[in-house]
Amino acid sequence: MTSRSSLGLSRRAALRRGSALLAGGGIAEAAGDARFLLLGVLGLETRDLILHGDRVLDPDEASSFDAALARRLAGEPVARILGAWEFWGLPFRLAPETLVPRPDTEIVVEVALAAVADRASPLRCLDLGTGSGCILTALLSELPGAFGIGVDRSEAAVAEARHNAAANGVGDRAAFFVGDWCDAARGSFDLIVSNPPYIGREVIATLQREVQDYDPIAALDGGPDGLQAYRRILDGIGTRALLAPGGTLAVEIGYDQAEPVRALAQAKGFSERGLTRDLAGHDRVLSFGLREG
Ligand code: GLN
Repeated sequence: MTSRSSLGLSRRAALRRGSALLAGGGIAEAAGDARFLLLGVLGLETRDLILHGDRVLDPDEASSFDAALARRLAGEPVARILGAWEFWGLPFRLAPETLVPRPDTEIVVEVALAAVADRASPLRCLDLGTGSGCILTALLSELPGAFGIGVDRSEAAVAEARHNAAANGVGDRAAFFVGDWCDAARGSFDLIVSNPPYIGREVIATLQREVQDYDPIAALDGGPDGLQAYRRILDGIGTRALLAPGGTLAVEIGYDQAEPVRALAQAKGFSERGLTRDLAGHDRVLSFGLREG
């Protein structure tokens, strides 16, 4: 028998109850989700659960945890309930206007870091459609001498990105602007990164409910053919000469977009540096340099 609420339960018992409740509601990752929610709501780390698992929740904690479980049962993703998620091992606060950072997007960071492995500082980075600021913040956290600019069309996203960069200790090397792709960007960058919206408009209706209902459509909708953002990005970089000689552009792509994105880039004077697959074996990140001569 599951008790009616978490009131009076120890952390460990509340976790067990939460996990059973979510499993009973058909949530696939019930145990993991219940743990993330309990840790997030109580502001604890895993070790607090292990070392102090028999501490009893106070009434506020119990009702917050129960409220979080109810939201999860109603289909809301854990990251949205907590308003926070981890990327590159760093904590990021989320706004409704920002995409939940995906593990696959860490590949953009890996490809970008590999591209500048033998370059001297100070590097200049530009993140187009920065959202929560996760890609730029991860890059700056790995490149101590680097500076970065993040651009997003959403004012709320820009505010969130600014907060996240500062909270992760790179705020003094990052600046964020509201702008439409390259329109607000000036200067010359060694690294340009982007995880733009790339889902074709008709495909959006086929995504998982948790993505469709809770991720911002503006961060997913790549126009009728899913490629609209790449056109804007490649055009803008070319027109404004934003990529420094020897610099690298790394973009996340959909699993079936390597061919068309490659073609768009070639037509705009870029040359391909590499294509990287994700853990599922899907094409995920394309990188480019400027064509010489
Ligand atoms: N990979 C995202 C998804 O799972 C799509 C993100 C994007 O369009 N940039 O829906």
